[in-house]
Amino acid sequence: MRLQGKRAFVTAAGQGIGRAIAERFMAEGASVVATDLNPALLEGLDCETAALDVTDKAALTGAVQAAAPDVLVNCAGFVHAGTIAEATDAEFDFALGLNVRSQFHSMQAVLPGMVERGGGSIVNVASVVSSIVAAPNRFVYGATKAAVIGMTKSVALDYVTKGVRVNCICPGTIESPSLQDRLHAMGDYEEARRAFIARQPMGRIGTAEEVAALALYLASDESAFTTGQAHVIDGGWAVG
Ligand code: NAD
Repeated sequence: MRLQGKRAFVTAAGQGIGRAIAERFMAEGASVVATDLNPALLEGLDCETAALDVTDKAALTGAVQAAAPDVLVNCAGFVHAGTIAEATDAEFDFALGLNVRSQFHSMQAVLPGMVERGGGSIVNVASVVSSIVAAPNRFVYGATKAAVIGMTKSVALDYVTKGVRVNCICPGTIESPSLQDRLHAMGDYEEARRAFIARQPMGRIGTAEEVAALALYLASDESAFTTGQAHVIDGGWAVG
């Protein structure tokens, strides 16, 4: 029970990586507040749940401060498809708001309480598609996930002596409902899936549970000497 006695706040916990993290944290003894834009997706989670749109600053900061968590997981994010030639200002603004600004707001809201309570761990979900590797048609997405890595390092440095650790997770391609949507949107589903698998030398797509295991490590005291790092979990994509 590596999170016994800890309280965790998770965004986008309705499906995919966020849900796997909420479930794993509960299994490890944490008291979890699981939130999502779509509250119907939170059904079946045996913990405190709440509807939360992370782009609503007042709602996000209020919920985070009320929860007073030891662990904050910023998981909400969206993948836009397209090159710089196709990107619109509206897409760029939306992605900045959802993928980046929401993490700025939730971290800003949680930090004073974490410092007061003697410390905490923040886990931001970035992507290997960021400042680490590029993927085709991921201009807006890659820019925002690189920003997550930058924010993670900045906050980690400023709070390193205050007991708060801040790390981010950089997954490769992970099985999730939105991955299925992206594969279908590419036209030839089987060909798209083959191409996504081909870029990961381990020859498969990762699972949300594998990402949740890394989140557990970063959330728990087992990672007490680690902060400000971008932890890659990508089946070997970024090795070559
Ligand atoms: P997903 O995309 O299938 O689900 C996303 C969840 O976020 C949904 O439950 C949705 O309701 C919720 N959500 C959407 N907008 C929200 C908002 N404004 N406020 C709160 N919740 C909102 O899940 P996933 O694919 O596991 O992705 C989760 C995170 O992992 C994202 O940040 C994504 O960028 C990142 N990621 C995913 C992959 C992958 O291959 N699946 C790879 C790298 C990084």
